[in-house]
Amino acid sequence: MDLEQLWQAVLGEVELNLSKASFTTWFKSTFIHSYENGRIIICVPNNFTQIYLQKKYYPHILNALRNITKDNIKEITYRIELRHNTTPAPRNTQAHLPASSEAAPAPAMPKLMSTNRFGLNNYYTFNNFIVGKGNELAYAACQAVAANPGKAYNPLFIYGGVGLGKTHLLHAIGNEFSKKSDKILYVTSEKFSNDYINEVRSGRAKQLKEKYRNVDLLLVDDVQFMAGKDGTQEEFFHTFNELHQTNRQIVLTSDRPPKAIPALEKRLLSRFEWGMIADVTQPDLETKLAILVNKCDEKNFPLSNEILMYIANNVQTNIRELEGALTRLITYYEFNNLQPTVDLTKTILADTLTQFRENSVTSKHIIEAVSKFFDIDIKDLIGKSRKKELVVPRQITMFLLREEISASYPAIGQEVGGRDHTTAIHACNKINEDLKNNQKLKQQLLSIRQLLQV
Ligand code: ADP
Ligand code: MG
Repeated sequence: MDLEQLWQAVLGEVELNLSKASFTTWFKSTFIHSYENGRIIICVPNNFTQIYLQKKYYPHILNALRNITKDNIKEITYRIELRHNTTPAPRNTQAHLPASSEAAPAPAMPKLMSTNRFGLNNYYTFNNFIVGKGNELAYAACQAVAANPGKAYNPLFIYGGVGLGKTHLLHAIGNEFSKKSDKILYVTSEKFSNDYINEVRSGRAKQLKEKYRNVDLLLVDDVQFMAGKDGTQEEFFHTFNELHQTNRQIVLTSDRPPKAIPALEKRLLSRFEWGMIADVTQPDLETKLAILVNKCDEKNFPLSNEILMYIANNVQTNIRELEGALTRLITYYEFNNLQPTVDLTKTILADTLTQFRENSVTSKHIIEAVSKFFDIDIKDLIGKSRKKELVVPRQITMFLLREEISASYPAIGQEVGGRDHTTAIHACNKINEDLKNNQKLKQQLLSIRQLLQV
């Protein structure tokens, strides 16, 4: 592993703990200058980045470096230097590079670094998206939209928990569509919001309209971040109308269904529900295995079924973490040149798996949060009693299990006192329905979600 590969492996690990925005902001254009006797020099593009990395991300970087090298890294210093060849090769071309005799194939390049002029990442295609129970409906809808834009479903709204493939699908539609037309735009809702704010500030109202209303396909990622931003919502409402009226395709993603987005204007909410709404939920074991096999192929690093089974069984959260665990494992084996075994895999992944568990909201957290919020004992909350004051909190619990961690209906029933999956479906539908008009319920859900974040 050379310095470049080492740094990419470190970035791969750091990326797991950061938001995409922070990761891109602070780690773009960084690289390792040298690594000798436990001392590492990292090059950064400017002073500001240096201070930020030192202050905020020192432990992240140090831990990742130590994990990967298994060396006792003693010192990290920074140097301000720009790289000459700034654009790293995109990940998908890397997979096809012939592996040189001594160097193992490079670890995964953080994917977000290579986007094209439409804002699309070439790596995310339908081809390398594994279809399984949790995402088959969303996948089919996305394919239909890519094949028949503006006609199949408009808008298409995809929602589900983090790391379950929404962004991947959104880019896949764009990449497919770009074979026919280049009037495409992919943005996050934050980008849209920033464009709007900049425009208001600069007083050039035309630019935004030209940019957003001139496309045949508009892909907006993470629309839940429009919550509470009135100006942005208003502007988006008009953009939406203009595109929709002229049969141009809009695809939106969110971490929750339209109704559950707090402070979303009614008229925008109703439009989000006009077309097709499809969710992505957690992958089952088979899907996880298929994803792992596929990633091993890409990385040209085969692992035994037993090892893959161990990873699939132990990463319960989402596909991003599944990939993260695999990358970490492969990097370790490559770096230390060891023969993969199940036992060794368990040791290598021990920390990573604990970290995933600690980071993630679990069903236990959700049940505790609801119990705390309504001041009800957990055993009553999930118990058999049908007292009125218990029924609604119980339904809210089931609803949140679905929304926050994309639990399957049978799993929800199981968690909440061993109930039938039809009870879970009924509870989720009921809360969804009530959310339409019940402000108090909306507020309660918001507060419980806040409890989950602390
Ligand atoms: P989300 O936007 O829902 O948070 P992403 O689309 O960013 O999730 O997916 C997280 C990671 O998992 C990405 O690297 C993506 O390529 C991968 N991934 C998610 N779902 C699948 C799938 N079904 N097949 C292959 N890779 C997937
Ligand atoms: Mg996403």
